[in-house]
Amino acid sequence: MAKKWNMIVDVEKCDNCRLCFLAVKDEYTGNDFAGYSAAQPSLGHSWLDIKRKERGTYPIVRANFLPVMCNHCDNPPCLQNAKNGAIKKREDGIVLIDPEKSKGQKQLVDSCPYGAISWNEEKEIPQAWTFDAHLLDEGWKKTRAEQACPMDVFRTIKVDDKEMQQIQAREGLEVLEPQLGTKPRIYYKNLHLITKCFVGGTITQNLGSVEECASQVDVILEKEGQTVGKTKTDIFGEFVFDGLEPNSGIYHLRAKSTSWQLTTEFNLGEESKYLGVLELQTK
Ligand code: SF4
Repeated sequence: MAKKWNMIVDVEKCDNCRLCFLAVKDEYTGNDFAGYSAAQPSLGHSWLDIKRKERGTYPIVRANFLPVMCNHCDNPPCLQNAKNGAIKKREDGIVLIDPEKSKGQKQLVDSCPYGAISWNEEKEIPQAWTFDAHLLDEGWKKTRAEQACPMDVFRTIKVDDKEMQQIQAREGLEVLEPQLGTKPRIYYKNLHLITKCFVGGTITQNLGSVEECASQVDVILEKEGQTVGKTKTDIFGEFVFDGLEPNSGIYHLRAKSTSWQLTTEFNLGEESKYLGVLELQTK
């Protein structure tokens, strides 16, 4: 089975320093790579961009960052919308927009469901991140983004599809918008930090004259009688359960220590939820 390029992006590691964005800008702005891409204009294009997602409400708020780029789909809608063979899918998985054949084909910008294609007004061509194919074909093993990232967010790997499926299953990788059926070759680790919800709260106990944060308390989250997760409160009495499906309905929460306990329930809607301060009661 032929080996193909894939990129694994770990959302948890990205801190939005944008060095990857700058590396892509540096690689393509003003530089033509014959057979691969025409120069990127200095303004207006972000072939690799970073999206920001904030979840939760004070005092438990999470901000995470999602690097996005052309997904080099195995079933690319852009290719289906290209005339004159302007987009090709290489045997190694890389999707390339021909800078000459694509001239005037502005419809390709809207054909990408990920918004990964930008329109070069001056040259009248659609453009997207090429997976740095000109570098990989020269023998480079890492893309510019991977070389530039100090947080090890990106991992470029060339493996056959069966091995990639095994890696996906083993590492819990996901792709963007899988329901579109585009079969991206960009895989995300910890994508739940963008797509899923968390529920959090602060547990206290009343010690007579003082209300104290209750640390190291066992907290159990249940749904329809099944345990969804278990955790312990931190030194501030806070707990978080992440990776919950938005709009997933009613959950039950139990917390207990040697001689204290509490139970509550909540309805999880579209957004992450802070349950507030929950006070333990004596058993
Ligand atoms: Fe085409 Fe968009 Fe898929 Fe890239 S992400 S291959 S531009 S459909």
